[in-house]
Amino acid sequence: PTDINALADEYLKIAYHGLKAKNKSFNCELVTDFDPTLGLVEVAPQEIGRVLLNLYNNAFYALSEKQKITPTNYQPTVSINTQRSESGIEIRVKDNGTGIPESVKAKIFQPFFTTKPTGEGTGLGLSLSYDIITKGHGGTLTVESQPGSGTEFIIHLPTKG
Ligand code: ADP
Ligand code: MG
Repeated sequence: PTDINALADEYLKIAYHGLKAKNKSFNCELVTDFDPTLGLVEVAPQEIGRVLLNLYNNAFYALSEKQKITPTNYQPTVSINTQRSESGIEIRVKDNGTGIPESVKAKIFQPFFTTKPTGEGTGLGLSLSYDIITKGHGGTLTVESQPGSGTEFIIHLPTKG
């Protein structure tokens, strides 16, 4: 039984501080909106943590890419939201980064698919995350994206009984 809100918050800090250690000039706003009534959910916490790290790191990357091409008045933001759904819980990770073109979106869950330069991406993060959420937890991992304005990944985890 895991406190998903605490897990999501803990890994957000790990990801953000890890990035700041490497790239001191990176700054973004972190917005959290956690449903306090979520309760404990039966998951493998390290695996869900790994999924969240992947999603957070992808979001930060998309923000820094957008920042390169957006001269002014851009506030990079990552928003994390948890909520109950009909059959379980939802974790949403949203960024206002580069977004994902339709042609790319079709491939992002494939192993080794990456649009990042060599050394910056293995293309394994989302395929591993997909397996952890679907095969490992009986949930779903979906994406909504507007090229140019941002991306949202939605994890749905079923809760038993
Ligand atoms: P990697 O990060 O090593 O490239 P992933 O499996 O994590 O591999 O992601 C695959 C691809 O999906 C990325 O290369 C990128 O093109 C796209 N992508 C994933 N998350 C985002 C995001 N938040 N914003 C824009 N593109 C994304
Ligand atoms: Mg990745």
